[in-house]
Amino acid sequence: MPDLAYLNGKIMPIGKATVPIEDRGYQFGDGIYEFVASYAGRLFMLEEHLDRLERSMGELTFDAIAREDIKKAILELFEQSGYPRAGIYIQISRGVAPRNHAFSRGMSPQFVMTIRAVKELPKSLRENGARAITVKDLRWGRCDIKSVQLVPNCLAKQKALDAGCDDAIFVSDQNVVREGTSSNLFIVSDGRLITHPLTHNILPGITRLAILGICHSAGIEVQESFFGIEELYGADEVFLTGTITEVLPIVRIDDKPIGDAAVGPITRRLYALLREKALADTPA
Ligand code: PMP
Repeated sequence: MPDLAYLNGKIMPIGKATVPIEDRGYQFGDGIYEFVASYAGRLFMLEEHLDRLERSMGELTFDAIAREDIKKAILELFEQSGYPRAGIYIQISRGVAPRNHAFSRGMSPQFVMTIRAVKELPKSLRENGARAITVKDLRWGRCDIKSVQLVPNCLAKQKALDAGCDDAIFVSDQNVVREGTSSNLFIVSDGRLITHPLTHNILPGITRLAILGICHSAGIEVQESFFGIEELYGADEVFLTGTITEVLPIVRIDDKPIGDAAVGPITRRLYALLREKALADTPA
């Protein structure tokens, strides 16, 4: 089965797909993206990803591409690849024009995608839990937009790996725990979940949304409220959520154990419930 690229309406091998050097996504980071995954041949929460994609484009005032056209292209690429467990990266930039900070209306957005088989996280990480560091949140004030401007996220992730850890957690100057470099964050305290509310400072994660729904059905209490680093260190359990991350336990942060430094029962249960939902959901 082939890894494929989609480039403004054409499907081709990834190595053959190139964009013009004056693409504004390339020169200004003037682009947005999505990442959708499939389970057993079905794309998980595709409509929710499309909702977020449309919102990101709207917030950056891109000229619109019809939702139905985007969806059709995604499904066509997915079908051509034949991967049952696929990861589809979707990127839309404002368009191509001679370099100028100001942009004109009526540009044609550039729409590209790649599809590959999902590389699952190591089993040992899921079974033993991951280690994280905290880092200062140096990102811009609109982290709710899924923009391709990810340099602070890349630097933070690399800092974590260089420190022998698995990921980094952004904490604001005012001591508010935000999210991971490519994931949302939940803490468990006295049997109740707490996660950052939806503001301009975090991405409205689709997996976060799935977890909120799962908790609602399972009768697990969730509070969307701000919390600081002391509550993070003192939590019974901490986990990250994301399309590839799914539900990933964090057992050490800044070299301090979380709870008894083992994967907790609520994290374990939510991972199982998320997988169950992903495998049961009907195709979009
Ligand atoms: N926060 C950030 C900063 C992310 O990059 C991601 C992954 N795209 C998430 C949260 C999780 O979002 P999702 O569950 O939609 O993958």
